[in-house]
Amino acid sequence: MRRKAAVLLSLLLTCAAVQADMIMADNRNDTEENSTEKIRIEKIDDLPQDFVLGADISSILAQFESGVCYYDFSGQPLDEQGFFDLLARGGTDCVRVRVWNDPYDGQGRTYGGGHNDLKTAVKIGQLATRAGMHVLIDFHYSDFWADPAKQMVPKAWEGMGLAEKAEALRAYTQESLYALLDAGVDISMVQIGNETNAYFCGESVWTDICRLMAAGSEAVRAVSAETGHEMAVVLHFSDPQREGSYEKYAAALYRHRVDYDIFASSYYPFWHGTTQNLTQVLKTIADRYGKRVMVAETQYGYTFEDGDGSGNTFGREWDTQTLAYPVSRQGQADALRDVITAVLDVGDKAVGVFYWEPAWIPVRVWNGNAAVLEENRRIWENCGSGWATSFAGSYDPQDAGRFYGGSAVDNMAWFDFDGHPSGMVSFYRRVRGERAAGRRNR
Ligand code: CA
Repeated sequence: MRRKAAVLLSLLLTCAAVQADMIMADNRNDTEENSTEKIRIEKIDDLPQDFVLGADISSILAQFESGVCYYDFSGQPLDEQGFFDLLARGGTDCVRVRVWNDPYDGQGRTYGGGHNDLKTAVKIGQLATRAGMHVLIDFHYSDFWADPAKQMVPKAWEGMGLAEKAEALRAYTQESLYALLDAGVDISMVQIGNETNAYFCGESVWTDICRLMAAGSEAVRAVSAETGHEMAVVLHFSDPQREGSYEKYAAALYRHRVDYDIFASSYYPFWHGTTQNLTQVLKTIADRYGKRVMVAETQYGYTFEDGDGSGNTFGREWDTQTLAYPVSRQGQADALRDVITAVLDVGDKAVGVFYWEPAWIPVRVWNGNAAVLEENRRIWENCGSGWATSFAGSYDPQDAGRFYGGSAVDNMAWFDFDGHPSGMVSFYRRVRGERAAGRRNR
């Protein structure tokens, strides 16, 4: 899916002023009980301790670069590490981060979407690791967004034959994993491709796709063997509601003997059918192919409002969406709880669930003000904190080139538009039946 670079003096000053205020008012409890919107979150019985409760927060550093402020439950502004610590205290135990080969144009200008190159992944991985969370590295093998609609080959690999591309992919995967591990990132899973529905890294024939996926998988196995650091190989698909599609993908992977551990699915409840169908299609893969399964991306909206003036992917303007839950914090919580339950219902092959971009909030809150929108646009272009900059148009003319802009998911975040946490930040801890974590540990 979708989504900023220079620091805004005014925002920094706002942050600093708030920080000064908050230091003076610092004897409240750091718990979600202070959150203005109370939500009911029931414990999920029999949730295994090793069931992964994750979040993809790939845009977070670009958000900080853009001057976005995040706060803890007592209203204290958070620095980068403080933000990761807050997520960890709320029960998030694994951070997913996308990696693009070279998300910059010929003049070094960012394509946006968090400019998630290897360097960014290393920093996010270190922050997550220091907060005590594992890390899922999500290689797109593209210079920008890879999803069911596009799987564009990295610029540097254009024109390569299949064998040469497979070797480039294997070497890139291996080098990247060594760089991450050397930097102390605690990688638990590696995704070879993102939402690879019959397209991958510029290829569209299963034999060729499988050859490239196998090369990525071999690289993970080689690094695991050499370092002794175990990492699960994850393949990721989308559109579980398309009848028979997952079985077809799994059969092709089996036929071509691709070595992988986890078959992952995106599941956006408003696009992707029922949770019952999700359970059923994942269970088929688990039973027939012996693979472990998980949901690598899910989200649900708590409001129809657009926080930043750049249209959202979830909203009342999309009449094709199925809104099976109220559009409220409670609806968001119920939707996420049902996704977890649906994965658990698969049985002992169930791995976990990752929420997608729960902190991609507005750079500045728009409120229909044209001057604020203009300022947001400047920041998205400079900091890469929107889903795409105009510079991405040279690589992705059909989509980014026409529709570049800000956050398409600000109404599905766990934080409000101003960066204050909702009870969703503690959702994972609460479904485990754990009580409030108490005082912050900074
Ligand atoms: Ca928006």
